[in-house]
Amino acid sequence: MTKTYDYDLFVIGAGSGGVRASRVAAAHGARVAVAEEFRVGGTCVIRGCVPKKLLVYGAHFAEDLQDARRFGWEVGDCAFDWPTLRDNVLAEVERLEGIYGDILERHDVEVVNQRATVSGANEVTLADGTKVGAGTILIATGAHPVIPDVPGAGHGITSNEVFHLEAMPRRVVIAGGGYIANEFAGIFHEFSCHVTLVNRGDRILRHYDEQIRDRLLQISLMKGIEFKFNAPFEKVEKQEDGTLRIFLAGQDPIETDLLLWAVGRAPNTADLGLEAAGVALGKNGAILVDEDNQSSVPSIYAIGDVTDRVQLTPVAIREGQAFADTVFGNKPTRVDYANIPSAVFSHPPIAGVGMTESEARNKLGSPKTYTSDFRPMKNVLAGRNERSLYKLVVDESNDKVVGIHMIGPDAPEILQAAAIAVKAGLTKAQFDETIALHPTMSEELVLMR
Ligand code: NDP
Repeated sequence: MTKTYDYDLFVIGAGSGGVRASRVAAAHGARVAVAEEFRVGGTCVIRGCVPKKLLVYGAHFAEDLQDARRFGWEVGDCAFDWPTLRDNVLAEVERLEGIYGDILERHDVEVVNQRATVSGANEVTLADGTKVGAGTILIATGAHPVIPDVPGAGHGITSNEVFHLEAMPRRVVIAGGGYIANEFAGIFHEFSCHVTLVNRGDRILRHYDEQIRDRLLQISLMKGIEFKFNAPFEKVEKQEDGTLRIFLAGQDPIETDLLLWAVGRAPNTADLGLEAAGVALGKNGAILVDEDNQSSVPSIYAIGDVTDRVQLTPVAIREGQAFADTVFGNKPTRVDYANIPSAVFSHPPIAGVGMTESEARNKLGSPKTYTSDFRPMKNVLAGRNERSLYKLVVDESNDKVVGIHMIGPDAPEILQAAAIAVKAGLTKAQFDETIALHPTMSEELVLMR
């Protein structure tokens, strides 16, 4: 590494990907600094996966407390106190932020608590005007929630603000039909809010298996969540009493107390100095990189959501690791993007890996599918009419299981282990040879015939 620069590596953004890249590069001997304008930990830790999952746990008590009565527990009147959950979650986030800071410090990574922009192929400029030289620059600035360009859109909030609500609203409208929309539909509903999910198209979670997302829609409707499809927003008006009036094309207006935008996330590349430095950007502002995370400027790399490849934390972490091992560890590594498992923490959750049935039909011709449609025994005793659905997609030519899709309690926990089998290319016969673990829900995976 040349010593003519202040640092061997300057990372912009201390989220999941940036932190991993910084500490691994430092462990390989590089002199590393990371700039963070907000909070160390990034979206996942501060205002994404982690606090969301804690709210999902908190929300699920609504059903657990109800079901407990069928299991003999005398549960008195229960009341939910949002400020208690909110403040406990925010305190946990603060604890994790501290841990992330400690990790960087332990690895001798210098944390610069201000915004940094690129001012040359080997130079960044900090918000206070300081110019810093770096042999390599890594952009790991993540993405931000999109707010559509409709009149009054600013009256809505995004996932950035949702963790800080003063009080639980009585009615919520959620715009979008993807991950955030369905996860927060479940959360708000369990907290007794009336939820209306408004989608521009005619389907939710379009990258998931059709039968699985249909089951979520069915269960959500049964619970009382309302859906409006093919309903583009026209405008949002704030009324004198503080409530919102939402106008949708071809539909009656909706009155609500809260509007949550969940219509996707766009890369954070604005005003970063990238175009001036010659870094090529894609149509939505994403940094274009090659398989080694290198941009069109050889000394500038990018990982994570800012590249808009797969917007998932574990993928950003893998990219950060691969970047640091390749550039500073003399260990060329590329991320394998095949068979990435993913989950939606809805109520109940969905999880999937590999090809959906329709993807397999397009790619393989006529795949074989196996399904198990069952009512988990806990739901039976609880009198909860909520069925789970598991599905295996098999390539008939070689018997390999090329996709697993599930909806039901703990589906993401179960799928993580099952994803190993898909990644390893195991066959349906090998699933069948495995003896069931009884009584569990996951035994269905080896009992489908
Ligand atoms: P998603 O990409 O999941 O879904 C966006 C939704 O908004 C889709 O239904 C889309 O409709 C709709 N939409 C897009 N643009 C507009 C628009 N201009 N007006 C109206 N509707 C629109 O986005 P999210 O915001 O839910 O989440 C962002 C990303 O964060 C996800 O893609 C995911 O990668 C990540 N994430 C992952 C989670 C997890 O792993 N559990 C949890 C939360 C987020 P259409 O289908 O028609 O395009």
